[in-house]
Amino acid sequence: MLATELAPNQQILPLTAGTNGQGHLEIGGCDVVELVRQWGSPLYILDETTLRTACRHYREGLRQDYPGDAQVIYATKAWCCLGVLAVVVSEGLGLDVVSGGELTTAMRLGVAPELVYFHGNNKSPAELALALDYGCRVVVDNWYELQTLVPLAQAANCTAKIMLRFTPGIECHTHEYIRTGHLDSKFGFDPQQLAAVFTWLRERPQLECIGLHAHIGSQIFALEPHRDLTEVLVETYAQGLQAGLPLREVNVGGGLGIRYTEADQPPAIRDWVRVVSQGLTHHCQQRGLPLPKLICEPGRSLVGAACVTAYTMGGRKEIPGGRTYISVDGGMSDNPRPITYQAQYQAVVANRVAAPLAETVTVAGKHCESGDILLKDIALPVTQPGDILVVLATGAYNYSMASNYNRIPRPAAILVQGGAASLIIKRETWEDLLRQDCLPERLMAP
Ligand SMILES: *Cc1c(COP(=O)(O)O)cnc(C)c1O
Repeated sequence: MLATELAPNQQILPLTAGTNGQGHLEIGGCDVVELVRQWGSPLYILDETTLRTACRHYREGLRQDYPGDAQVIYATKAWCCLGVLAVVVSEGLGLDVVSGGELTTAMRLGVAPELVYFHGNNKSPAELALALDYGCRVVVDNWYELQTLVPLAQAANCTAKIMLRFTPGIECHTHEYIRTGHLDSKFGFDPQQLAAVFTWLRERPQLECIGLHAHIGSQIFALEPHRDLTEVLVETYAQGLQAGLPLREVNVGGGLGIRYTEADQPPAIRDWVRVVSQGLTHHCQQRGLPLPKLICEPGRSLVGAACVTAYTMGGRKEIPGGRTYISVDGGMSDNPRPITYQAQYQAVVANRVAAPLAETVTVAGKHCESGDILLKDIALPVTQPGDILVVLATGAYNYSMASNYNRIPRPAAILVQGGAASLIIKRETWEDLLRQDCLPERLMAP
């Protein structure tokens, strides 16, 4: 690989994106306009090459920079479906799940339980029982969960392998809703409680505490917070070992940012991996501690840049002396990030990629919310209804946060690779939306 090559998380377009002879956007060797003709819109188009390349940057970075054992696990909440998980698992990654639903998806693929880590700040007894039955790792978040796990492990006649999540007290500059490492966070033990937890665990043979976990937030561009995190983790690892716990894994979380617009300048995956690898190694060596297995759990930086969403453009509203709005056939139901976090995106027109930029417009979704704006004040070529607008870098937290607001069916998703497209998520139908509805007999029309 060339040193100058940008990592997948530093590019706005998928790695295989190009323009074909007809001036159409091509991804994974497929003409995006043709894909929409075949599969309809909105359509999530996932580029297998970009996803696999991102997995390899993490994996190879760890192999090069970390002298001990290491494992990358994919934070499935970024996009959890069988197709995406099958690709990352085939790259040797494990999975981080946060619900019974995500766990069931991992189990359906037959992923080895020791590669699956179950997170979450309020796992139900049923979810914990499922995790113990499967034999995956449980990342324990709080006292209540510890107390719930003991009788469950007893009933299941097993020893639960657990990790402890704590808040490392590290501030990072990202949106308030996706910041998790500061002390006033809903996630994890407060560091001041850990000594008591260590003592408590010594008398609980049902729970084997094999590691520590911390995650400081998401869409982070600075490397320093993760460098600092390794120091806090090693300090706590030392305390845990001293307290007699069989610790052998340290999980540094995820959080590396991606490039949504030209203004975003995230560090490369390999640079992030080097910082956490060197930090962990350095602090362990300084204290004469054995190197733990290093686990990291990226989500966004694996899948974010690998996917685009194609929409069909509809009507146009020009406000005299004001904005021009163009509507598309999706919006906050397939991409809730703009309305939730004021997230910004970039877009291209798939059927006229090379056309010169001609006007500044605002792209609106079709939902009944004024805030349902996908792209505010972006430059586009001259367009007309029926053109295909492609919003870039929509792989993370789009499908996984999608809803049926306004009873709009969720889009289909296809995986593209080498000129072939395979369906990984079927488009919902209006009929699907009625499937869970029940009409009490007394309300039925006579
Ligand atoms: C969300 C989350 C991740 C993944 O975060 P990204 O920013 O998508 O890399 C990893 N670990 C935990 C515990 C999380 O909550």
